Order: sequence, then structure tokens, then C-alpha cells
Amino acid sequence: MATIGPASDDPATLRGLIEAGMDAARLGLAHGPVEASVGRLHRVRAAAATSRRQIGIIADLPGPKIRAGAYPEGGIFLVEGATVDLAPRSAADETSSAERTVVDHANLLADLRAGDLVALGDGGVQLAVVEVGDDKAVSIVRSGGRLQGRPGVNLPPGRLSAATPTAEDMLLLEAMCEAGVDGIAVSFVRHADDIRAVRRATGPDGPMLVAKIETKTAVDDIEEIIETADAVMVARGDLGVRLPLEDVPHLQKRIIKAGVSYGRPVITATQMLESMVHAPTPTRAEVSDVANAVFDGTSAVMLSGETAIGHDPVGVVATMSRITERAEREFDYAGWGATLGIQQAAGMVDAPAAVRITAAITAAAWRAAADSDAAAIICCTNTGATARAIARFRPTAPLLAYTPSLQVARHLSVAWGVDAIASEQYATADEIVWFAVMDAVGRGLVHRGQIVVVLVGSPGDDEPTTDVLRMVRIR
Ligand code: PEP
Repeated sequence: MATIGPASDDPATLRGLIEAGMDAARLGLAHGPVEASVGRLHRVRAAAATSRRQIGIIADLPGPKIRAGAYPEGGIFLVEGATVDLAPRSAADETSSAERTVVDHANLLADLRAGDLVALGDGGVQLAVVEVGDDKAVSIVRSGGRLQGRPGVNLPPGRLSAATPTAEDMLLLEAMCEAGVDGIAVSFVRHADDIRAVRRATGPDGPMLVAKIETKTAVDDIEEIIETADAVMVARGDLGVRLPLEDVPHLQKRIIKAGVSYGRPVITATQMLESMVHAPTPTRAEVSDVANAVFDGTSAVMLSGETAIGHDPVGVVATMSRITERAEREFDYAGWGATLGIQQAAGMVDAPAAVRITAAITAAAWRAAADSDAAAIICCTNTGATARAIARFRPTAPLLAYTPSLQVARHLSVAWGVDAIASEQYATADEIVWFAVMDAVGRGLVHRGQIVVVLVGSPGDDEPTTDVLRMVRIR
């Protein structure tokens, strides 16, 4: 997933990103007017149509995050010991500089005390407040670094009442839903109720909801949030500001594991190839980080500033594709699937029948594909649930999802390893299987003489059920 910004929102670059391996695009709504994001959405759609790909577009709500007014083009560098004034931003076009950071928070001076530490961006830059006056607070740079764009401003925990979604989020949500966005990332989720509040506004057939896990309360309530949302994001930037930095790698593993066990795609985000905002190649530590996210079992990896404002967005996506594809060659697929099967069997006793059927039949399909050396697993799915359920097993055979819903096809762009293909709506399972297999042959994805495993999902009484598993020898 790549964040689209001023460096990447022209048609040629968007096509380049798709060709280099971008499956989903993120639009950050915290930066600039919503009309600019709607324009980007249309440009991504046009590029996807030209490239004949289903690209999911996810709009990221700002939530109650306070941001600084923009720093000048190219950013600034704060050195340790320098003095920086902090002041509330008085006009929408007021910008920040190396000497004065303006902040989108009218009550800033009332909320600050001498001695407070204020973190800027993803926590790298820290200011220690020494004096709070009537029109500004004076601070000293405790830990320096580069700042660019409109970084977040983190006041000491507990100083602000952070309700998600905010009134501004709800307006942005409406505008993006009207524009036809595929997913909404909800920032600073505290409890599952925050996701329910957004779902009430979008309705059950609205965009998929991605819960960004970046607060302590969300980590504490992780299981219910995962069950309530359609996907989760390990939002490592803010997570590392609100929880000890050294906890982040362990939380990443925990969140991925929990997400996968519920069949929810997990997106690992932030600073994955950060140095490539400026540099032509990543650091070795960044390469290892991206590969380790794959080994942890992440469904997707996300680029932020690297593609939004970086110097070579297409080159960054190509680099990330190379790292993930190489890591996938080392992944322990057999071990992962076997462990998940055992865990699933142990945890299924009290689950509803539809969930037990889907779990059992997808485990059987995974096993059958491995044992028969199948050329592909084809999932025919109305809601995407079947494809997400089989993707949990991380099968080695390519996973093709045929769905009559373009929206479902685009939702599947963040699911692990799924290639979604739009199909007709057929009446019977026999017809569905026949047309999907023939289409895959026609596209050259599978060939005569090969075996394919086909799963067909049908809507159940209360939850979608996958109830047909067929093995087809293509003649
Ligand atoms: C994060 O904090 O890691 C994140 C993904 O959120 P944002 O980029 O909106 O700060």
C-alpha cells in the first residue's frame, strides 16, 4: 500500500506505482482540503483502469491528531539545544519555521506546562517546554531531527480528551464515501465502539473499515476491535509515541497474529523505507524490517512519506516489492498453515456453525492444494470472506478470487496474496466453478493438465458460509 501525495499523484507516476507493485493506495486526509483527496481518488481510479487492475483506495481520517502548520518545502532540521517557540496557528495558511512551530490547537497554551515534553512527527524530535506565555510557549530542542510537511504534535498523554471519530472525521467520511472510496482508516481507535460509530454512519455495505492500532487502550481491547473492524493497521508511528518504543516490534507480532486468526488483513505501516524519502537506496535495517514484517505474517506493508513526498515514489515501491517477494521465498508456509490449523481447531468449539464450516473447509482446501500440488486456489466469493479465510493459511499456490462485486475485489487488495478478478453473478455453484476455471485458463493463469482447488462461498443465514470445495483437473 502506498500513500499518495504531491510527489505521486500525477497519472504517469500512479501508473508507475501500480506497475511497480502497488495493490492499494492510501489518501491521508490530514494534509490539505478534502477536494484534493477526491481528485487523487479519481486519478488513482483512472490509472487502475488503464493498468486493468483492481486497486483499493483507502482514505485515512485524521482523528483527534494535532498537527503543526507546514514547514517550508524540503523541511527543516532542528538541532539539540536550539530554542523553538510553539504557538497556536492563527490562520489556515500560517506556516512553521525552524524558530517557530505553529500548531492546530486553539487551546495549546492552556494545555501546556513548563517541564512538558512535546514530541513532533513520529517521536524522533522532542521539545522540552521551559516557559508558557500569553502568545507563545518557549521550548528547547531535547532531541533534534528533520521535520517536513505537517507532522503530528504530541502533547503529554492525558492532556487532551481524544474522542474518535471527531466531528471533522464524520464530514470527511461523508465526502469520501460519496466519492466512492473503498476503505476508511480510522485513526486513534480506543475501543471497538469507535469502529461501530463509523460503521453506523457508513452502513453495513459501506467501505471497509481499517482500525489503526496506535493507542494503549486499543492494544488492551485488540480482540474486540479486530472482530469489529474489516482490517487493522499496525500504526507504528503513533504507537511508538504512546507506548515504549521497545514494545513496538512485539506489539506488531501480537497484532498480526490476532488479525490473521480472525481472518482480518493486517497492514504494517510507517517508516518502513523512511530513508528513501531522500536516499536512492534503503538502509540495511529497513530492508530487514520489511522482510521481518513478511515473516511475522503481515498481509500488507505500507509506505507513507516515501511515496507521498519522497524523491522517487516508483523506485521505493519497486524496492519494497523486491524485498517482499524475496522474503516470501523464505517464508515457512507449511509451518504457518499447520500451526494455524491446530490453533483454529482448538478455538472453534463455541463458534457459530457458519464460522466453523468456513474454518474447516478452508483448512481442507489449503491441505488439498498442498497435497495435490495444485496450480491455483480459486475462490468464488460474494463478500470476500472465503478469500480472506483461505489467505490466512498462506497457501503456496496462487490465490485467485472471483467476485461479482467490484467493491469486494478492491477490498481484497489488502488481503494477503489475493489476485481479485471481477466476474458475472451466476446462479449455481456448478456454473460459478465452470466459468471461473475457464476464465483462469483464458487468462493463462492455469493450464490444461493442471489441478486447481475451487472454493465457493454462498451467503448463509446470518454469516457468509463457504460450503463447496471442488478439485478440478483441467482437460
Ligand atoms: C502511524 O502513526 O503510524 C500512522 C500510520 O498514522 P499517520 O501516518 O496518519 O500518522
